[in-house]
Amino acid sequence: MKIHILSPHLQQQIAAGEVIERPASVVKELIENALDAGAQHISVDVEHAGRQLICVTDDGAGIAPEDVPLAFERFATSKIDAPRDIESVRTFGFRGEALPSIAAVSRVELLTRPHGAVLGTCARVEGGVLRRIDESGAPVGTRVEVRDLFFNTPARRKFLRSLRVELSHIMGVFTTFATAFPEYAWSLRCDGRPLFELAAGSFRDRLLALYGQDVMAELENFDGEGLSGRVWGSFRRDRTAGRRSYRLFVNRRSVRSASLYRAALAALGGTGMLLLFVEIAPEVVDINVHPAKREVRFRDEEGVYDLAFSALTRVLARDRARGAGVAEDEAIYTPSTVGAGEAFQAIGQIEHTFLLASAQGHLYVIDQHAAHERILYDQLLDAMARGTPPRRPLMAPQVLVLASRELQLLEDHRQMLEACGFAFDQFGPGAVAIRTIPEIVPARQAESVCRRLMQRLRDNVAERRSETLPQMLACLAAMKAGTTLSLPEQQQLLRDWGKSPQLHACAHNRPVYFRIGLDDVRRQIGRTAGSCEA
Ligand code: ADP
Ligand code: MG
Repeated sequence: MKIHILSPHLQQQIAAGEVIERPASVVKELIENALDAGAQHISVDVEHAGRQLICVTDDGAGIAPEDVPLAFERFATSKIDAPRDIESVRTFGFRGEALPSIAAVSRVELLTRPHGAVLGTCARVEGGVLRRIDESGAPVGTRVEVRDLFFNTPARRKFLRSLRVELSHIMGVFTTFATAFPEYAWSLRCDGRPLFELAAGSFRDRLLALYGQDVMAELENFDGEGLSGRVWGSFRRDRTAGRRSYRLFVNRRSVRSASLYRAALAALGGTGMLLLFVEIAPEVVDINVHPAKREVRFRDEEGVYDLAFSALTRVLARDRARGAGVAEDEAIYTPSTVGAGEAFQAIGQIEHTFLLASAQGHLYVIDQHAAHERILYDQLLDAMARGTPPRRPLMAPQVLVLASRELQLLEDHRQMLEACGFAFDQFGPGAVAIRTIPEIVPARQAESVCRRLMQRLRDNVAERRSETLPQMLACLAAMKAGTTLSLPEQQQLLRDWGKSPQLHACAHNRPVYFRIGLDDVRRQIGRTAGSCEA
């Protein structure tokens, strides 16, 4: 075929494909327009998870009658004018692409009336063609109804997932905006059923309405300010289930950002829930990277990383100092007398696996592997919290020959592996060369730890386990059951372990020791008041 320029219709469909992937993308674009128009109350109605209908109603500024046809033209926007406006844009939209893209692949009816106008305008556009435009009575604001999404692009339609999946994407978009804008009222209805009715209120009110009391009670807040801007938000650590839900916002826009994500992973160990807001001068953020404006870049990526990381780790360090996060287990495993810095006296080893020790007259039986794992886990997290990956350079790189699936697995975990202290690169087609390992891994164990780590990563994925990389590493690097220790070695291990604020649990939150109290000993022996003296 000869080279030719595509028809405007095809051009439009291709451009639409970049912005509108699924019903949730329509919801996102329409909500953004409503917010840009200064709306205070935004309602979203969907039918059939948005396949049949998506309707977004707002009480914003509305569109003047003469502007309505323009709103459906590509590159028609009221939000920027001169090139330098792009650099300081504060609105969600500015490309003038959303309405034409949506209209190209659906049947749209727009009803709008600006403040002060007596009559409103109703416009119908089908597959990108303006069918009708009439004067019409209308409330102040704008309502956009989008029907039969992808009716003229069957390929797209085929790629839609089940109603449940599409609806969950829509709910994700909706709750993200509702989280970022608690000062506005929001509602979401699905097939006439209300899913969310959110009254305007504070950030805390909104979190309570969206996530419920249980989550709320466990949320911790953080806050920090630096040269690059301000960061604040809430997080919840997840010590058991290991699910991750991180939502990042820059100037209240939900975004992806490699630096922010890396900071969150390094601080929280890759699990838990996080809502992180960055407020920063729009001039130092580039939101123009991605067609759907999802990905951002910062002029000072490192500065933003540091800001987020230090705000999060300050709170974590404070908790650690308080010994928080152990409360629920404390009653079971930790007698009140044992605390950070407890002086344990080594007595000996049982079966080269358990240590016997005494402290304040009580007898302790301690799992040596679990205790060592706790020490290494603390060391690793502390070093990560300081931001310096604790690396141990290898004299000769460790070369691992891997299947392509395994190479992919390593790539998938690259950020976290690097945050833990690994450095590796591709070494020929089917191998990687590992150049540094985390400091907690002894050099002579480099090979076996790397191999076993691969195995654990595979199992983790295959068995849907949720072990984090720092947990795996601490476990792999820790001494095993069956290791003989001299008395001074036992004493050293006890000294290090005794300093941990969470010595009752290993990295996986399993118990490390049990105690036989002095009173128990007395009772068992029968040395009670009134018994035989001396
Ligand atoms: P953009 O948001 O990038 O400007 P859109 O295609 O989303 O482009 O919208 C085009 C124009 O239509 C906007 O610039 C705005 O002037 C107007 N518009 C769209 N939706 C609304 C709305 N809900 N309220 C008021 N004006 C709107
Ligand atoms: Mg827009």
